[in-house]
Amino acid sequence: MALIVQKYGGTSVGSTERIRSVAKRIARFHREGHQLVIVPSAMSGETNRLLALAKDFSPDPEPRELDVVAATGEQVTIGLLAIALNHLGLKARSYTGGQVRVLTDSAFTKARILEIDDTRIRKDLAEGVIVIVAGFQGVDAEGNITTLGRGGSDTSGVALAAALGADECQIYTDVDGVYTTDPRIVPEARRLDRITFEEMLELASLGSKVLQIRSVEFAGKYKVKWNRRSFPASRSIATNQRFP
Ligand code: ADP
Ligand code: ASP
Ligand code: MG
Repeated sequence: MALIVQKYGGTSVGSTERIRSVAKRIARFHREGHQLVIVPSAMSGETNRLLALAKDFSPDPEPRELDVVAATGEQVTIGLLAIALNHLGLKARSYTGGQVRVLTDSAFTKARILEIDDTRIRKDLAEGVIVIVAGFQGVDAEGNITTLGRGGSDTSGVALAAALGADECQIYTDVDGVYTTDPRIVPEARRLDRITFEEMLELASLGSKVLQIRSVEFAGKYKVKWNRRSFPASRSIATNQRFP
């Protein structure tokens, strides 16, 4: 039995059909006896849509209020995923960042995680509950909703894995691994069989969307075993990346 954190990106939860198949995949891991913490992103396109709504009212919205709006994308997917899992007969419970609590600083729209309270998560896991935590969001010391910067649910996943001392953090996305460069833009990009921590850090720091840079920093600092998988894609397992 392992404690596994699974982060599902926007495409993986991009439709009700995909959420259903994510739920079935989670059910399989649960049947194998693993303890699971699931960290979904918002449905693909949703965060952009929410930010555009805010910009429709002001060219320069208050960052605090932008976060109130932007954080709702993940609140939808955690609830839907919990409902889908419950419907499969599994015990699942969803939490926003504030409910957990994922404590951050007050740098709205680009907050940093300071501390994660693992009490509720551990209690649920001990009772056989699948825990679903909203990616991309936290709460500051005053109780304000914060978000972690675009792509921030990667960091939520890795930080939760670190805080829980998870055996593994699996990042599910729409590409089957890490490539030399963005395979959507450069068709000749090669998939990397191995990547060092420094290379991953460099890729992320060059602005690649493949992993948010803070998640890479976290993985290095806390020695989180990391691998990136594509979903749905059957050959993804062959591309596991693990570092450091
Ligand atoms: P998710 O919602 O799963 O986090 P993102 O869109 O944020 O997905 O990130 C995955 C995307 O990152 C891929 O679709 C790909 O276009 C892009 N990407 C950029 N650089 C790379 C790279 N070096 N290797 C793989 N994918 C990359
Ligand atoms: N939903 C957020 C974004 O689009 C966080 C994430 O997907 O990682 O930036
Ligand atoms: Mg991303």
